[in-house]
This record gives sequence, C-alpha cells and structure tokens, in this order.
Amino acid sequence: MLDLEISNLLVYAQNNLFMDELDCSQAARRICGMLKITDFAPVEPSEDVELAANPNKLVEPLLAYAVEHGIVTADKTPALKAEIMDAIMLKPSEINDLFADTYSVNKQKAFDFLYEYCVKSGYVDLDECAKNERWEAKELKSRIEIIINTMPQATTDAYPKCALCRENEGYYGKANLRVVSADIGDEQWYFDYSRHQYFDKHGVLVNGEHTPMTDGKATMQKLALAADFVGADGFVGTDSAAENGGAHNKAHEHFKTGFKSTPMFRQGTKLKLKSQEYPYLEMHVVDWYSTVIRFAHSNLEKTVEFADKLVTAWKNYSDERIQNDGTKNFYSAVCRKINGKYTFDIVLRSNAIKRPRMAADYEEIKADALSITDILGYFVLPTKLSEELKQARLYLDGTLEYDVNNKKIPLAKTVERLLKAQGGPVSPLEAKLNIHDEIDLVCEKILASTAVFDEKTIVPFLDGLGIKIL
Ligand SMILES: [Zn+2]
Repeated sequence: MLDLEISNLLVYAQNNLFMDELDCSQAARRICGMLKITDFAPVEPSEDVELAANPNKLVEPLLAYAVEHGIVTADKTPALKAEIMDAIMLKPSEINDLFADTYSVNKQKAFDFLYEYCVKSGYVDLDECAKNERWEAKELKSRIEIIINTMPQATTDAYPKCALCRENEGYYGKANLRVVSADIGDEQWYFDYSRHQYFDKHGVLVNGEHTPMTDGKATMQKLALAADFVGADGFVGTDSAAENGGAHNKAHEHFKTGFKSTPMFRQGTKLKLKSQEYPYLEMHVVDWYSTVIRFAHSNLEKTVEFADKLVTAWKNYSDERIQNDGTKNFYSAVCRKINGKYTFDIVLRSNAIKRPRMAADYEEIKADALSITDILGYFVLPTKLSEELKQARLYLDGTLEYDVNNKKIPLAKTVERLLKAQGGPVSPLEAKLNIHDEIDLVCEKILASTAVFDEKTIVPFLDGLGIKIL
C-alpha cells in the first residue's frame, strides 16, 4: 500500500532536501503513522521523480488516500502536507547551521539556498502563487504590477500571541516552516520567506521577541542593520504603525524584505537636494507618485541620524494644507545597501490631507490602507475582486443589463464609468481589457493620492531642515 508513493517521496527528499539515506526508514514510518498504514517496503522509484520541481505531485496521492480513508477532511490536507514534508526535511537547527555556514562565505548564496529549500519543501508553493491574478500595467509609465491575491489562507492554528512569533515554527499547518536566526544590532531576530511571494524572494524579518512596532531613531538603525543583513541585492521595508500606515500586525516588530528591483526603485530623480548640515549625503526626491526622499551614504551613524531628523521634522510638520496636530503625519521607509552605501527611501505620508472625493469612489477596488508593498509598485487587491471582475465584465459585454438602481451589481461605480466611456456594450475580450486598464488607472490614482507635496509645496518643509533644491 502506497509503497511506490512513499518511496518516491524519500528519493525526492534525498535529491532535494538533503535527507540522509540513514534517515529514510524512520521518515517512512512517520509518514505511515500519519496515514495509519502499517505495511511499507521500499520499491524502485518512478523515473519522473528526478524532474520534480516541487513536491506537490508526489504528495498528492498520499493526501488523496488520507481523505478517502477518512484520516483528514479535505480542508485539512494543507496541514497534513506540511506534516508529511516535515518528516523528510532537515531539522530547524540543521537549516540554521547550513544557512549560517553559507552566509559567512556568501550572503546571496545563503538566501538562495534557503529560498530553494522553502520551494522544494513546499512551504513556498509557487503553483499556488501562480494562481494569483497578476498583470503589469503596461500603459502606465511606471509599470506597476497589479496582484489579485487568490491564495487560500493557510490552515494554521497559530501560536497564541501572534502569527509572526518564532514559536509558530512547528505549529499546526506550519510544520514545514523553517526560519533562520539573524543578529540585528544586539537583538535576536529571525528571517523566513513569505508564502505570498508578491515580489521576487519576498520575505519577512521578524524580531525574536513579541514586541510592538516602534518608531524613531532605533527603528532607522535597525532598518540599516537589516539592509546589511540581507546584503547587496536586497531591500528591507517597514510600514508605519500609525492609523492608515499599512501595517497588518502592529503588535510584533517586523520588516518586509525582497531582492532585486521594484517599480519604485527603478524611478530616478525628480528634484536634486543638498543638506547644509549633511552635505556629503547624496539626496533627491524620487520621481514617484508618493512623496519619497532618497538619500545615501556609507556612514551608518550619520545616515541614520539624518533619517531620524527627517522623519521627526515630518511628524511635526504642518501648513495650511496639512493640518497636522503632531499625530497625523507618518512615513513608510525602505533601506538598501547599494555599493556600500546605506540607501534610504523615506515615504512621507499623512492623514491630515483630505483625500480628493474621487479617491473615495475607488474604494470598491481597494479600501484598505496602502502598505509598503503597494507603495513599492506591487498593488495587492483583495481576493473577492477576482469574482467581482468576472461579474462586472458581463455588464460591460452586454450579457447582463446594467441598471443604475440595482445595488447588487459588483464594482457598480467602475461599471458605470466604463459603460459611459465605451458608449455601450463591447466584445468580451474588449470588456476584459477595458476593465484591466481601468484598474491600472485606479491603482495609479490611489497611489498618487498618497503624495503630500508637489515641487512647490515641498519647499517650506525642506527649508525647515536646511535642505536646498539644486
Ligand atoms: Zn508575535
């Protein structure tokens, strides 16, 4: 019973997950225990095991067996998959040692190793990620990416304090999670890859203690040290714990990480700046929708000191447009280490500026506050939108008749705008293209609505910091 299927998995683990041949028998017994089978004898594996890029096809028959025999219900198969994978994986300590040994020689290789391991172990499931609807806004100059997240929420019975705590390693549904330790200053943090993969090698760097997100100089310092940790190709970003600051979990300090470029990073200079107090900092306003100040220097202490001055000045800033009482301005921040220089992107944001009425009309597309992921140019839209878009298209191509009084039409405002622009129903293909284009434009407008200054209104703020526009 299942001799071939289990044998296949054992060979896969030896090829991809560093499983030692001496551990095969024990792993097989653990899997048999989970499936409540007693007989197992290893057999010659299937030829295509060598070709498997992830374990999904190999685990599938075991999960089907479990459901068929009433061992688990269908909704619990992701957790069983995690348990089965855990039986053929290295222990957390072994992963940590392998990562640390590689890291001491080559940081990027260490991260690549961990990423590969997470994919091969099925924790990061690229087949699932590929089910997200995703497209590039080709008509926009910035080419932001639109992502409709359709991934099911992982079955977890998370650690009581929160879903970010290190103690989640091994919890129900997360048996195949592996994290690695990271020293950030004198604090113990840990790193792992995100299941979502909204951008290239999307990961999360988390404080080892369940301690709330903070603000100020210590955070800037940690961000710079975290940029050191992820190395030359990486970036580290933080949301703000403020209202509308985009953070989902404010109770546990964490940063988002990724590798290589993002639409925002690809943008150049809008205004070149020079600080009187820090004349050696390379500094400019980024040519981006949000108000982003980018500055860089190799000296960590001085760069962090300036970052703190900038955000402190911003939090206290007000003028006739920005009616701030000291609580309404906030920021998102990203740090990268580029050619040995700590390169910060500070995104100035505010709840003190009235959003244009227009923006409220777009809430049917995205209602939640923009996170740093959105600001970087990866616009994440809610799962429900996937179905709503399909429905909305039926009104655009004339399959269903639009009625202004029908309150149940999904994305009603968008449909109404598009029908007007189209001058009536169009072909199904055109309807699809039109609605995608419309979403691109709406996302661009939402992003643009986060801007707090233009080229003129920014001058008094910069003056207050002794910064001149060149
Ligand atoms: Zn926590």
